[in-house]
Amino acid sequence: LVNEMKLEFMSKSNNESFGRVVAAAFASQLDPTVEELADIKTAVSEAVTNAIIHGYEDSSGTVEMICRLYDEGILIIISDKGKGIEDIEQARQPLYTSKPDMERSGMGFTVMESFMDSVEIVSEPNMGTTVTMFK
Ligand code: ATP
Ligand code: MG
Repeated sequence: LVNEMKLEFMSKSNNESFGRVVAAAFASQLDPTVEELADIKTAVSEAVTNAIIHGYEDSSGTVEMICRLYDEGILIIISDKGKGIEDIEQARQPLYTSKPDMERSGMGFTVMESFMDSVEIVSEPNMGTTVTMFK
């Protein structure tokens, strides 16, 4: 482990860009390429957006982000204590969204999977969701 940070913020849509910028600033210590940094920002943005709009759909709460830097890359853990996901396999499917009426495309997890080396989802209904990504 080279370095570690932990951040907690309210589930406000303004914090999508906040979380993304913080993750990118922290990741830049590893001297990533411009493309790697862009991939990390996109993945973080998708995970934080999900926590805010799905996790705390009609409530509000806190979103936590932990970043760990290793010689091999960055581990990013984004979690909420919101409504959780009943069927994780279904949620991971490209184009699956539980909010088709709200101009969601159902591509968030697919984007995270394609831009990061690994994406793990742990979730329990009414307990919350944790997304762990590595690149
Ligand atoms: P898009 O990301 O393209 O705007 P989306 O958010 O619906 O659309 P995904 O990000 O792939 O698509 O997520 C798929 C589904 O998984 C969501 O529609 C939602 O039902 C569920 N989901 C994702 N993240 C969470 C979360 N943090 N809490 C509860 N449900 C979630
Ligand atoms: Mg999404």
